[in-house]
Amino acid sequence: MSDKKKLNLVNIIFLTTLPIVSLIALPVWLKSDSYSFKTIVLAIVFYVLAQLSITAGYHRYFSHKAYEAHPLVSFFYLCFGAAAFQGTALKWSQDHRRHHRFVDDIEKDPYSIKRGFMWAHILWLFYEGDKRYNPEEVPDLVKDKLVMFQHKHILKFSVFFAFVLPMLLGSIWGDALGGLFIAGALRLTINHHSTFFINSLAHTLGDQKFSNKHSSRDNFITTVLTFGEGYHNFHHEFPSDYRNGIRFFDFDPTKWLIYSLSKLKLASNLKKVDQEIIMKKMAIMALINFESSYKTFEFLSLSKKHMSKVCSYLKDNVENTFKKLKDLKKARIITVSVNEKHKLSKQIRKARKEFNSSCKLLFGMIRRFENKIEHDSQS
Ligand SMILES: [Zn+2]
Ligand SMILES: [Zn+2]
Repeated sequence: MSDKKKLNLVNIIFLTTLPIVSLIALPVWLKSDSYSFKTIVLAIVFYVLAQLSITAGYHRYFSHKAYEAHPLVSFFYLCFGAAAFQGTALKWSQDHRRHHRFVDDIEKDPYSIKRGFMWAHILWLFYEGDKRYNPEEVPDLVKDKLVMFQHKHILKFSVFFAFVLPMLLGSIWGDALGGLFIAGALRLTINHHSTFFINSLAHTLGDQKFSNKHSSRDNFITTVLTFGEGYHNFHHEFPSDYRNGIRFFDFDPTKWLIYSLSKLKLASNLKKVDQEIIMKKMAIMALINFESSYKTFEFLSLSKKHMSKVCSYLKDNVENTFKKLKDLKKARIITVSVNEKHKLSKQIRKARKEFNSSCKLLFGMIRRFENKIEHDSQS
């Protein structure tokens, strides 16, 4: 902690001056002769590229290794990740791995929400962290030559991709200053706070559909701002999954990008957690959430004792059918006999059906109880 108490003046000045400069520059630019709609498009393009390089690159690839990326893709992430001015992929990943390992620990989680919303959002950056990276925490990344190259030249990377490049592009249509202040500074401010909201807002407000063992939450606002990172409760439970929004229609453009890259042979080995494991977590958590809500009701026609008994049956049912399915899957991996494998596959199909039915029963019963509670509360 002692090193954290030392203020990081460069970060303080940069992170406070940037939004002020951006907000002053915006009305001035809008009224200026050089104003161009092309600059707005440029700002949006840079926002998208920088944000996706943080989400698909710094986060899901470098920090979690949720998939393998082609070196060209990796290099693209390092360039446009630098445009988001959030330090090097190496240090970002080290902090983020600590955040997952020690989530909510007031000392060891670098942006622990337990130190307050503003600490998790931005204040943690106002203090000096570790000056050097620890190779033991990022052993895979220290072997990556591109990552180490970016780490060594981060300031040049960041200044060029965040400010110089948009300024040069803006100068093509005579709006170099718009490129610098709008597609550079203003766009970067929004990039910053969108990412920062994952550490603050997505640890404060939203649903806990997968676990209540940590403060992370699924938060829709942050999902939109960060192209899918707001399914944060899922992510903390299953950090190696390349998806954060698991249903195909969940707003997770980062997942769609990674999937598209895999179709173009630019990404491979996309990691996905077993659907049954996810389903079991969701079922148990739905029951926990329901139990904590019905216990506050005093005017039920159903007795709490009866509800408690039913809930405990539903939970056991899901856990037992899940265990049976898991054991059968394990046995199929171990066995060498083809006949035995065939027999086990049949049993797995049957066990999967039983497990799905047990989850359906649980969700159905919760719905019925909730309807009953609503009916009781109105009468
Ligand atoms: Zn988190
Ligand atoms: Zn993560």
